[in-house]
Amino acid sequence: MSKYRIRPEDGAGGTLLLISPEHALLGEPEQTKLVPAVDENTDVLLEYTAARMLQRTLADVGAGRRITAVSGYRPHREQVKIWEDTMRKEGETFTRTYVAKPGHSEHESGLAVDLAEQREEIDFIRPEFPRSGICKKFRDMAPYRGFVERYLSGKEKVTGIGAEPWHFRYVGYPHSVIMTRRSLVLEEYLQFLKEETSPEHPYIYRSGNVRIDICYLPLDQWIDEELEWPDNLPAMISGTNEGGLVWTRWRERYA
Ligand SMILES: [Zn+2]
Repeated sequence: MSKYRIRPEDGAGGTLLLISPEHALLGEPEQTKLVPAVDENTDVLLEYTAARMLQRTLADVGAGRRITAVSGYRPHREQVKIWEDTMRKEGETFTRTYVAKPGHSEHESGLAVDLAEQREEIDFIRPEFPRSGICKKFRDMAPYRGFVERYLSGKEKVTGIGAEPWHFRYVGYPHSVIMTRRSLVLEEYLQFLKEETSPEHPYIYRSGNVRIDICYLPLDQWIDEELEWPDNLPAMISGTNEGGLVWTRWRERYA
């Protein structure tokens, strides 16, 4: 069996961290894990796995150069600058709707990317990423590679952010598929796991002959506790940044 003892810092790392107006990101991502989002010639960086899965999604749909990453990882100081510049140019209402407060932007985690359909002029704050053509193909494939459209129209009251059809967040598979199928934003998904799941009663995701069990663990009850799973099957743990952990375990394949 593989074993892992939960540490307090596990609550602040992973792909399911909630970063929102109420939940500030604690700490910066490891700089060595940041790599070019799309190709070597871009200064748009993402966390390593997010970058790899973005590149795979773009390749899957044959995007070529028709989709471009306009913004990925932003150091805290850059988020401060964008906030201040947008305030000055566009005023407070616009800024509060479309720009996250410094410390509260998913871009500071390296797990979020703003995408644009390639055009001569690209709006840096609100890029065009339509629901047709190559962008639709990308949207349809993205959940299978771990990405969700993070700020959905109609969920503004939950997320505290205006709809952003260009902003994709890497949460990891199969969370991305579950969230997309159920139209849950990250806030709602974590709430659902928190209320409905435990190690004894996980949410069970099935696809083909694969079964994946997902459950929420309240961090304060699980620090120093040990998780166990079979050596030959993958398992992942992610902090939620709101007091919990999500444990994702691949189970025996069944016929
Ligand atoms: Zn964004």
